[in-house]
Amino acid sequence: MPELFSPEHSAELLKRGFSRRSFGRVATLLGAGAALPFYNEAALAQRAARIVMPDLPADAVRININENPLGPCPEAADAVHSYVKEGGRYHFEQTALMAKTAAEVEGVKENYVRPFGGSSDPLHRTVLAFCSPKKSFVMADPGYEAGKAAAQFIGAKVYSVPLRKDYSHDVQALVKADPNAGIIYICNPNNPTGTATSKADIEWLLANKPAGSILLLDEAYIHFSREWESRCSDLVAKDKDLIILRTFSKLYGLASFRAGLALGQPDLLDRMEPAGTSIMPIAGMVGATASMRVTNLVPERRKIIREIREDVFGFLDKHNLSYVRSDTNFFLLDVKRPGPEFMKAMARHKVLVGRSWAAYPNHSRISVGSREEMEKFKSAVLQVMG
Ligand code: PLP
Repeated sequence: MPELFSPEHSAELLKRGFSRRSFGRVATLLGAGAALPFYNEAALAQRAARIVMPDLPADAVRININENPLGPCPEAADAVHSYVKEGGRYHFEQTALMAKTAAEVEGVKENYVRPFGGSSDPLHRTVLAFCSPKKSFVMADPGYEAGKAAAQFIGAKVYSVPLRKDYSHDVQALVKADPNAGIIYICNPNNPTGTATSKADIEWLLANKPAGSILLLDEAYIHFSREWESRCSDLVAKDKDLIILRTFSKLYGLASFRAGLALGQPDLLDRMEPAGTSIMPIAGMVGATASMRVTNLVPERRKIIREIREDVFGFLDKHNLSYVRSDTNFFLLDVKRPGPEFMKAMARHKVLVGRSWAAYPNHSRISVGSREEMEKFKSAVLQVMG
């Protein structure tokens, strides 16, 4: 086999428990983005529902993959338009501008921010950088599955720790799960429950986690939550052992423009670098920068989504339907039958709902769509649930 890595990198991989034979597989992961068995929401939903996307009716209600019906804000759309004819250039300077803008917004130094084309990319890179056959991946159950799939693919053990009764992360149990953890993954608010874990718990975990592990804090949905005000970027500024992931796919409505961020100390972020090529699309870069500059966007959109969500909760209460009280743009609904059955029944009414998790097989995850979409959801639910 040709030498795939530098001698230093090979030595590092061997130390982490990879065999020389597994180098080829790791190299495939690093170099062949499109062929990776890695997942994001859309891929996971397609697997769960076997939806062939071109077959979708144009008027289908899509509340299955936590998209934002509000889409890009006008400032982001204008910024993207203005760059369309510039698409022949790589525009690295726009990546730097995005990092600078994010650093200002988050109160961290510029070299503590790395932009990526979405947050799935740095999520997978972090797993490759910090997990191995000797270093496990520890997460909550139920939790977002992408990191687990990456860990399993490279032969790392995965420990799944049930959420507490209030659906927050059981930080004590996460810390105890494996003294050889490479990553403890917290998604805050958690996908699929939509429930938050307090900053005090996150700080406790950082102070007590096994030596040599890092906290991977996925804040994909934090903008929709009360926790936004106490988000953890200050812990990054204080050089704690954590990497925070943010995406512009959710509150900012830029899912197909592709923009995300990793925040962390530069030496932690550098460890992700050997993986992938990381050129961002221009739409992602300028769309993200323009969105971050709209100072009221986060509170305004949080309010819009919260009002729609609370209206749906009122409807569910009125009809004695139970659900997990979420603090973000999706929630788990108790559908009193296996989730896939409910998914199929709702699809007959042209309403696409999310998947289920083994820990809650009779719950379906519902994304908060527009008011109009949620009215269609309500009427379909009444018919399907009787
Ligand atoms: N993390 C979580 C918890 C998600 O639910 C998603 C997508 O839905 C992502 C990360 C990745 O999103 P993207 O790659 O679009 O930034």
